[in-house]
Amino acid sequence: MDGLPRPPAATTPPLRDLTRTTCPYCGVGCGVLAGPDGTVVGDPDHPANFGRLCSKGTALGETIALPGRPLHPEVRGKRASWDAALDAVAEGFRRTLNESGPDSVGLYVSGQLLTEDYYAANKFAKGFLGTANIDSNSRLCMSSAVAAHQRAFGEDVVPGVYEDLETADLLVLVGSNLAWCHPVLFQRVAVAKAVRPSMRVVVVDPRRTATCEGADLHLPLRPGSDVALFGALLAHLHAEGRADRAWVSEHTRGLEAALEAAHAIAPHAAELTGVDPADLATFFRWFAATRRTVTLWSQGVNQSEAATDKANAILNCHLLTGRIGKPGAGPFSVTGQPNAMGGREVGALATMLAGHLDWERPGETELVRGHWRASTIAAGPGLKAVELFRALSAGRIGAFWVMATNPAVSMPDGSSVRDALRRAPFLVVSDCMAKTDTAEFAHVRLPAVGWAEKDGTVTNSERVITRQRAFLPPSGEARPDWWIVAQVAARLGWGDAFAWSGPAAIFREHAALTGLGNDGRRAFDISGLAGTTDAEYAAMPPARWPRPAKGSTVAAERFFAAGGFTAARARFVPTPWRGEGAAAGGDGTLTLLTGRLRDQWHTMTRTGGVPRLMAHAPEPVLAVHPEDTRGIADGALARIAGPHGGAVLRLRHDTGQRRGTAFAPMHWTAQNAPTARVNTTVPPAVDPISGQPALKSARVALSAYEPEWHGFLLARRDLGPTLAPYCATGLAGHGVWRHELAGTEEPEQAFARLIASVGAPGAAWARLEDPASGLHRGVLLEAGRPIAALFLGPHHRLPPRDWLAALITPEADGAVPPIVALLAGRAADGPSPSPTLCVCNGVTQARIRTAVEAGARDVAAVGERTRAGTGCGSCRPEIAALLAAAIEQEAVPA
Ligand code: SF4
Repeated sequence: MDGLPRPPAATTPPLRDLTRTTCPYCGVGCGVLAGPDGTVVGDPDHPANFGRLCSKGTALGETIALPGRPLHPEVRGKRASWDAALDAVAEGFRRTLNESGPDSVGLYVSGQLLTEDYYAANKFAKGFLGTANIDSNSRLCMSSAVAAHQRAFGEDVVPGVYEDLETADLLVLVGSNLAWCHPVLFQRVAVAKAVRPSMRVVVVDPRRTATCEGADLHLPLRPGSDVALFGALLAHLHAEGRADRAWVSEHTRGLEAALEAAHAIAPHAAELTGVDPADLATFFRWFAATRRTVTLWSQGVNQSEAATDKANAILNCHLLTGRIGKPGAGPFSVTGQPNAMGGREVGALATMLAGHLDWERPGETELVRGHWRASTIAAGPGLKAVELFRALSAGRIGAFWVMATNPAVSMPDGSSVRDALRRAPFLVVSDCMAKTDTAEFAHVRLPAVGWAEKDGTVTNSERVITRQRAFLPPSGEARPDWWIVAQVAARLGWGDAFAWSGPAAIFREHAALTGLGNDGRRAFDISGLAGTTDAEYAAMPPARWPRPAKGSTVAAERFFAAGGFTAARARFVPTPWRGEGAAAGGDGTLTLLTGRLRDQWHTMTRTGGVPRLMAHAPEPVLAVHPEDTRGIADGALARIAGPHGGAVLRLRHDTGQRRGTAFAPMHWTAQNAPTARVNTTVPPAVDPISGQPALKSARVALSAYEPEWHGFLLARRDLGPTLAPYCATGLAGHGVWRHELAGTEEPEQAFARLIASVGAPGAAWARLEDPASGLHRGVLLEAGRPIAALFLGPHHRLPPRDWLAALITPEADGAVPPIVALLAGRAADGPSPSPTLCVCNGVTQARIRTAVEAGARDVAAVGERTRAGTGCGSCRPEIAALLAAAIEQEAVPA
């Protein structure tokens, strides 16, 4: 037994009554079975997850009734009918088009959209507005992988399938914290390695992340130096005679130029990457000797100024060795968003047309125009995300529509993007959440359906198209995104081309488009699904593309093992070293790596509403190596500043952080932690080929943030993020909000002001105040029970919050501790609270340490004693890390 969590049995009776749909969070695309009562379990029959779910997926049922949904349209802040709101949108776009032409309008869409929504938006923009100024937040996620695939293969194709990650003998994870960002894939890999320990896993990442637990080798390379690593690897593979000469000769071109660039890099690889030469040699030896090798990469590669070259450097190594499209062998880009792949398929990026047809290939633009019955069509690529917001800022975009995304938080140079949105002449936001940093500036707000209400398809990272099915009616007056687009199009006079009866009709039109002029020339072909009836669509099982129409020559599970590239021959792309990241840290600054937390998704609009998902990381934290902390204590507040802005976060000393780097999560917004919006520090630098922002290479200066007082306030309502100059809010339990605070006014003044903000009729504060030491504590009691607590002190070392939060929750029962204990912030005889590590079973780090002290020696044994890691399994790498640290500690002689 490997001790890993098991999916539910397929025969569990209640599962039959649930709706078969898809998790909306990440590109793994797990199938789920969901019901209106909030039941959510993994779909045992889905090929992505076979019943598994991670912590986020497991908690989906707790998000379906979250408050904060927009229930009706609004025009200029006032409730409006759908007719009035749609008329206003149509008029705003018509006026701008008439005055300034097609390129004066733009759309910014999202990998959260379903493929049918995406298709409608792209057709509307490129085919009818006549502009390719439609870009997706997928530009921030994987557009560099798209560009690399197009350069190497002639088409954006992921050649492999998830099973390859399990059957590989060597799995190389590059710039991917798989354990946190694609947890179910990580679990699949963990099971495969437990069953077959000879399988090797190498992690290439500047940080020692949870993904490194159980890996055979970690290469903590200098940020940005992946081109040097894989260039040197290419030279090594060639020198060692590992080229598949016959395959390369028959199916590729450009090897000599790529080798020339690689040979220039190779002698300097250790110096450029900063990796121990012995570890480099080990990696090169393993890669050279292992035919079944998969190289998986994600945002650590994609979000940089040399991103497309990095991806092509990886592809070059697989092309040289012919390790592509074979079981257990191939390059594998994974997407961050649930339907980033669907967006690529319909062409909802400014640089793509539709259905993998291309402006560059003769006749294809006309094929698309004819299929759409459009009188016009964009003649070439439009503005990519950063360019689009620059155009908005410069006043060149007059009407702008943001769908299902929050660019005020997620874009680099966040303050400028907010300004651009604020000054937009006409801004439409359609979203399933009412209050976002972006919606704040909208002239028209349109309520879109949310996850449980959506009907359509998504495509995951292994090309599997899965139905997302509604199992709840729309909230209020919310409508599907495709319907909203179609209604606006109709008001602009294009109703005939958008007269779909439902998502099935859109899917058929999209599928048919992929077969136009294809005959096996393009890999992406689902024209075999163009005849799907409404009933078949309703029942459609997961389907991996290609799905060509009968008679087509394309039919493959994997691509390119025997050539067949869209560009006839695959191309080796020379990837010379251009010096990215070479000087990182040399000027005293740190390289800021931004990324995701295990239990949060994007801007926390959904995951932030689930108390147990907030328990793992309740406050925005900056991780820095202890030797880079400029003397700032662990747990103190720190400021990071770059040329474009600054942020304040809680500092954590982290020996897993590479020297010269810092890590901060990208989830926090003006709605919950205004000073922790880290993208305000990130400049709008982009990869020159893909236009993907370099979100992991900002240079920031670190300094102490030294307020007059620190504090926290626990209350039964969210008092907002502006209680103090530093304020981070979030759920601390059911019905309890935690506000982490720090301020510059006199502590007495702050205490009185904050106490006044919480009062409740009939409740009274019990206080403990010592102005001489700066200590101010209060507990608000109502009928003898605590309903709020406010603690202020001169430094950041304040009592843990969990014990008080548990007493304040409206569900609390049992005896109330004495006032003296409440004001001390802990029970006189109880254990100190400890951070929650396993959110499924509410197991703290302290309990896990106790289990280790009592003799647990592996993750399974910890699970048997505490239940930690026996739920979704997402915390298992961290349990392994705790175990390793505890065992190492025991080994140190007293
Ligand atoms: Fe959802 Fe987790 Fe699966 Fe991603 S890995 S699709 S977040 S359950």
